[in-house]
Amino acid sequence: MSPDSGAAPGLRLRSWTGTPYRFDPGALALELLPTGGPGPFARYEVLHEPADLVGWARDCRLRPTPVLTVARREVLAARRLRDALWQLALARVAGEDLPAAGLAALNAAAAHRPLVPALAADGSRTFGEPATGRQLLATVARDAVELFAGPHAHRIRVCSAEDCSLVYVDTSRPGRRRWCAMEHCGNLHKARALRARRTTAATADAATADAGPRAGAGADPEPGAEGA
Ligand SMILES: [Zn+2]
Repeated sequence: MSPDSGAAPGLRLRSWTGTPYRFDPGALALELLPTGGPGPFARYEVLHEPADLVGWARDCRLRPTPVLTVARREVLAARRLRDALWQLALARVAGEDLPAAGLAALNAAAAHRPLVPALAADGSRTFGEPATGRQLLATVARDAVELFAGPHAHRIRVCSAEDCSLVYVDTSRPGRRRWCAMEHCGNLHKARALRARRTTAATADAATADAGPRAGAGADPEPGAEGA
């Protein structure tokens, strides 16, 4: 069991400098996207072995997740479902029609029997065990159906940072979420904006300083220094 099971939902990711941060994409289905993807995202692939899918399930928002039996072909099925989710999410973000291939892959995964929820004696939610990778994927696919057909479908977005492709759904009431994570891209943006302001101010100061001695032979007092 993950040490922080029961904590706020979200994936533990690392920035390119190695700093850990939490990314909550807002929906189970979108939690599968950072495991890799089609085209340029293929280099981020982390689903290679059955243990990789089990590891993803352990950390996703379904936790605590049941004991899973995952076959190799189910890892490939997970990649197919994930790549379909990428197609559908990006089509949604762009306001385009949902692509037929992505829909077919999603609906095929959703047609399987999902994980079976059960209530434990202590009042917590568990799942019937053992469960299969196919069941896990059916649960993810059904979550995606609810997401894309649901009230927040128009709030599926890509992080506003230029160099970030993380996809989330903004379920906040005001609907003004811009970043994958405030503690990551949000703060980087703030730091960059601050640096840009300081650079502009420093450039203006330097221009004033350059002009000063030539214009007044260095004898003029600083503006506002008189009487200080
Ligand atoms: Zn981001």
